[in-house]
Amino acid sequence: MMNIQNIDREYIANTYARFPLTIVSGKGSLVYDENGKEYIDLGTGIAVNTFGIADEEWIKAVTKQLYQCQHTSNLYYSEPCALLAKTLCERTGMKKVFFSNSGAEANEAAIKAARKYASEKKGKDTYTIITLNNSFHGRTITTLAATGQEVFHTDFTPLTEGFVYAEANNIASVKKLIAENKVAAIMFELVQGEGGVCPLEKDFVDGLVALAKENDILLIDDEVQTGNGRTGALYAYMNYGFMPDIVSTAKGLGGGLPIGACLLGEKVKDVLTPGSHGSTFGGNPIACAGAQNVLSRLDEALLAQVREKSTYIFNELNGASGVKSVSGMGFMIGIETEKDASEILSVCRENGVLAIKAKQKVRLLPALNIPMDILERAIAVIKAACAISD
Ligand SMILES: *Cc1c(COP(=O)(O)O)cnc(C)c1O
Repeated sequence: MMNIQNIDREYIANTYARFPLTIVSGKGSLVYDENGKEYIDLGTGIAVNTFGIADEEWIKAVTKQLYQCQHTSNLYYSEPCALLAKTLCERTGMKKVFFSNSGAEANEAAIKAARKYASEKKGKDTYTIITLNNSFHGRTITTLAATGQEVFHTDFTPLTEGFVYAEANNIASVKKLIAENKVAAIMFELVQGEGGVCPLEKDFVDGLVALAKENDILLIDDEVQTGNGRTGALYAYMNYGFMPDIVSTAKGLGGGLPIGACLLGEKVKDVLTPGSHGSTFGGNPIACAGAQNVLSRLDEALLAQVREKSTYIFNELNGASGVKSVSGMGFMIGIETEKDASEILSVCRENGVLAIKAKQKVRLLPALNIPMDILERAIAVIKAACAISD
């Protein structure tokens, strides 16, 4: 038999430290490797498979579109993309949507819209974007610049100019940067995902909202990971009770197909004009059909279940042996452990549970519809893996 892992190591660019595991199939929250071994998947392809693997309803929606038309380009009108934009606006109160294929591109669109708005309204020299230390906004040269973590910048400088970094949950550090720069926007994740599953404090977010209002600064809310039900609300800003000017999202939106969206609020809805931005694949009908299906099922009943199951996870893990702390929101959970997180993941894998890491934490991103009995089994495995025997 072909050894996929050897072929991968020979021919795939060496950018990923993969787990020693080849996933071949799955159903819902269960996945199978090449030997037929079953795992409970608590990583969902990094918060992408919103309803797990090979979900019947989603497959139906996607397949229907696949037989109808797989791609049109943005030279023509297309129903799936128009209807998805309508749904996104109606469910959020945002006004217009630009579709991309990834989170980084959704953020690129957000940054371009913010810069164009500021340039037209306040002048060409107002372009600085404040982001937060420990943030993650993507891998392109500009979204790397937005990412407030030095480790990602090394070897790729010079990055796009005009990004400065404030300290999360420290409003004075944001004020200082506003005083020192001509600021177009403040960009943040409400729960820093790659940074270690760290939610922003409500007071800090209220402070950002006030500063943005006083200074006509745009708020760019990066919901690439937190969006689409992940935090127990449709979008995480709904947990905080404010309206961002721009919301970017991707990951879970397509339920497993590559799609990103940049949602533009009232202030910026008409900033992007013909020719000022675009994407060949953006708004692809199949990806949009998948996303429409995902959104149609993210109703209050499902979100309430996510919150309930999240509370269950927090209760089980808080104070458990070997667990130092549990952070996050909804189904975006970080576990700080006594033992090394990689060792815990390895033990979990042996025992049929897949979780991932965020910095030095064990990170859980279950499918939003994970059945309770499967979740209970998985949490028991994680608790046992974290436990310190005495
Ligand atoms: C994953 C992620 C991105 C980048 O998304 P890609 O689809 O990998 O380009 C950007 N922002 C946040 C918050 C993310 O979690």
